[in-house]
This record gives sequence, C-alpha cells and structure tokens, in this order.
Amino acid sequence: MKLQDVIQDKTRLFLDYDVPDVYRTDYSYKEVAAVRAVALPNTEQEVIDLVKYANEEGLSIIARGGGTGVAGSQVPIHGGELIIDVQRMNKILELDEETMTLTVEPGVPLHEIQSFVESKGYFYPPDPGSKHSTIGGNIATNAGGMRAVKYGTTRDYVRALDVVLPDGEKVTLGSLNIKSSSGYDLKNLFIGSEGTLGITTKVKLKVLPLPKYKQSVLLAFDSLRSATSGVLMILQAGVEPTALELFERSTIEYSEKFTSLKLQSQKGEAYVLMTIDSNEADTISRKVQTVQQILANHVVEIVPLASPEEEEKAWKLRDAILVALMQFTEYEMLDEVVPINRFAEMIDYTKTLQEKHGLHVINFGHAGDGNVHTVILKEQLDEATWQAKRKAFLDDLYKKVAELGGLPSAEHGIGVMKKPYLEKMSNPVELELMRKIKHAIDPNNRFNPGKLL
Ligand SMILES: Cc1cc2nc3c(=O)[nH]c(=O)nc-3n(C[C@H](O)[C@H](O)[C@H](O)COP(=O)(O)OP(=O)(O)OC[C@H]3O[C@@H](n4cnc5c(N)ncnc54)[C@H](O)[C@@H]3O)c2cc1C
Repeated sequence: MKLQDVIQDKTRLFLDYDVPDVYRTDYSYKEVAAVRAVALPNTEQEVIDLVKYANEEGLSIIARGGGTGVAGSQVPIHGGELIIDVQRMNKILELDEETMTLTVEPGVPLHEIQSFVESKGYFYPPDPGSKHSTIGGNIATNAGGMRAVKYGTTRDYVRALDVVLPDGEKVTLGSLNIKSSSGYDLKNLFIGSEGTLGITTKVKLKVLPLPKYKQSVLLAFDSLRSATSGVLMILQAGVEPTALELFERSTIEYSEKFTSLKLQSQKGEAYVLMTIDSNEADTISRKVQTVQQILANHVVEIVPLASPEEEEKAWKLRDAILVALMQFTEYEMLDEVVPINRFAEMIDYTKTLQEKHGLHVINFGHAGDGNVHTVILKEQLDEATWQAKRKAFLDDLYKKVAELGGLPSAEHGIGVMKKPYLEKMSNPVELELMRKIKHAIDPNNRFNPGKLL
C-alpha cells in the first residue's frame, strides 16, 4: 500500500520535498529534520489508516495541531517521520446543555471554542496566550494560561477523549460521569503526554456558565520583589483572582514598541495585571476594595481598568509580549514552576544569574500559580557565545528550580528542549515507571520518539 492510497486527496498529502516550510520550523527548536510526509486527515478512520500504514512501513509518527508548541515537541528530529496534522478535523460537534459538555474534533482552534461557548452563555476557562493552538495540542501539553490560578488547566476540563493508539486501535477514555473510582485514570495519563501515547481524535469538554461580570486592575510596584510579595498578599486575602499576571517594565516595553500602545501605568519597575470575575457586581467591587486596602502601602499605583476598551488594551499588551520579543531578538523562553511561596526567590535568582552569566534576562508569568516564564535574550551575542552562556545559565537555573521543589515545565511540556532537565530533576524510579508505561502502550516507540522521555 502507498500513502497516496490512504489519503487520496492530493491537497491533504505532502511528500518529501513538497512538505511546506511551516513543518520544518518551530518557535523554539532550531534543528528540525526533513520529514517523509505530512498527511492531513479529515476523519478518525483516516487517522487509524495512517497509523496502520506507519506500522507496516516502520515509520515514526508525530501528531500536530496548531504548531504553536514551544518545547520542540511537534517537530521532526530524526528525519523520515510521518506528521499527522489534525487541523482539518476541526468541527464543533455538539453542545449538550444538560451535562454542560462540548464535543469537538481535535483540530478546533482554542479561540473558536471560547467564542462558540460564550455566544451560548457558557465559558471554557483554560486560556493559553496562543489562541490559534488547537484543543488536541492543548490536551497533549495540558496547556494552562491566564485563568489557571482560579480555574485550573486544560486537564480539569476534559471529560472524555477518543484516542488512536500506536497499534491503530481506537479507545474512549473518561466519560460523562462527574466522579469515578473505577480503576486507573487513563484519560489523565494521556493528557500532557505530548503525542507519545496516542492521537486524540475527539474530545468532550466541560464548560461552565459564563460569569456575568469581570473587572481588571493594573497594579504597579517599585520592584519585582515587591510585586511578587504583593501576589502572595492577594492570594492570602481570599480574593480568588481569575488571572494574576506579572511582568517587568523592561518586558512590557517590547510590547509597547510592537503595538504602539502605552500601558496605563508608566510608574514602577514591575506590574501585576489582575482580573476578578463573579456573577455579582458587588462581589467584584468588594474584592477590588480589599486589594486596594491590603496593598495601599505596597504599590506605587493602582489603576482600575474601568471600561472594556481599557481592559482590552492592557491584556493586548500582556498577550503581545512573546510576539513582540520575536521582532527584536532571538530568545529562549522557559516555563519553570515553583511552589507559590518560593516564587519571589526564584525570580530573584534569575537576576543573579543575569549578572553571573552576562545574559539579558527578563521575566513574566502566571504569578498566581508560581509559573515563571524566564526569558533569556540573545541580542548581539554570536551563536557560539550564546549557546555556551545559554547552557551554563540553564544548568544553574534548573538546579535552583529543583532545590526550591519546582518542576521544569508548568504548561509548555518537555519536548526536546527540557528533556535533559526532566531527567536530572526527576526521581529515577518515577522516570523508569514513565518509560515502562510508554513501552507498554507503544512497544515500537512509534509515537513521537525522542520527545519527553
Ligand atoms: C505566543 C504563544 C503564547 C503561548 N502561551 C501559552 C500559554 O499561555 N499557556 C500554555 O500552556 N501554552 C502557551 N503556549 C504554548 C502552546 O501554544 C501550547 O503548548 C499549545 O497547547 C500547543 O497546541 P498546538 O495545537 O499548537 O500543538 P502543536 O504545537 O501542534 O503540538 C504540541 C504537542 O501536542 C501534540 N499534539 C498535537 N495535537 C495532538 C493530537 N490531536 N493528539 C495527540 N497529540 C497531539 C504534538 O505531538 C506535540 O507534542 C504559547 C505559545 C505561543 C507561541
């Protein structure tokens, strides 16, 4: 059998040199190899047929969604892989209002899910910055994003998954039942597995009623340290923010230049952009007042973003950070997470590494859940110096993350970029258990080999 027999529509199959460049590049990983083919199935049956074909031909498979991954997980690294790009499987199939469940195909972009459910009065809380990522990719990386501090990550909204396994068999994991004490939780094993165990072909997502009111507030601090302690004070006061994003002045300046917008506060060295949502307007104003009271002697400025336009402007600046950085310099963004009481210490440490290694370091992140995006900038460094400094910096940084009880990735995944650090930072017994699980499900190491483990 030929691949052309499995995918007969020529517009949905690219072979060898015809593979578009987009599959050979990545935001973060540079050493992308040539692939054997890229297939864009329309149906689950085509995914099954492609997996069976790959088994017959001895090919490795990489599942791909929006290609926005930043850990090198969706890119070919060996050469000769078959990429199964599920972006054409992009139908929203059903909103079941009785169980508050949305059924979708894996290639539906996140922004379509969000706007579809909101148009019906519902809410899908996970909110990664990359709105063009797909739900299949979000599940494979257990994507987090801005609202994780109150609502959790993608994992918390997956009720059930249809998955094609490495032998071509299909299985449904999870169910519409709210509770389960019925054996191993295989659905959760597949969430965050970065395409190493199966290809998601259908998803049932939990949705919530859309909160009626929300309000954002911008808090300006005179230092990064006082911003991080302010975050802890907000969390301890029981304000339950929907989002609590931290960024330095030097970080937001890239967004300001890129968008030609100005953040509503130009004072201070660090900011926290906070949103509160509720079904009662009074609750929001009470919580804003609480924040104003507890931080009165701690902030340089508090700016309530009263209109939707002001709110949108501040969030647009926050969302543009990464894209803005791309215009000005090459960089590497990290995704470390530490227990929330060590967040300030972690960020302080990145600044000592800036001095030690002579690398420009900036930080932003989902402060409410201890997830720092430390970014190291290449700027004028030549390639050899950049690589040497980068490696020394990462070695020091991940050692500190481990000391603080943290993990190498909070939401972007391990891919190839963080693989050596996962290995160093994990308990060997736990790592071996993961390898045994991978081997049990994918004995021929066909799905995304060389990634994660
Ligand atoms: C500007 C920008 C902002 C970002 N902000 C955030 C953020 O706030 N929070 C966050 O968590 N991430 C963020 N990310 C990272 C990225 O968007 C997420 O990792 C996202 O979940 C990847 O989804 P994708 O559809 O693009 O997947 P891809 O990049 O195509 O693939 C990522 C991984 O998922 C696997 N995969 C894809 N589809 C399937 C499938 N159907 N079945 C099995 N495996 C599959 C791939 O094999 C790969 O391992 C950001 C990225 C960018 C570029």
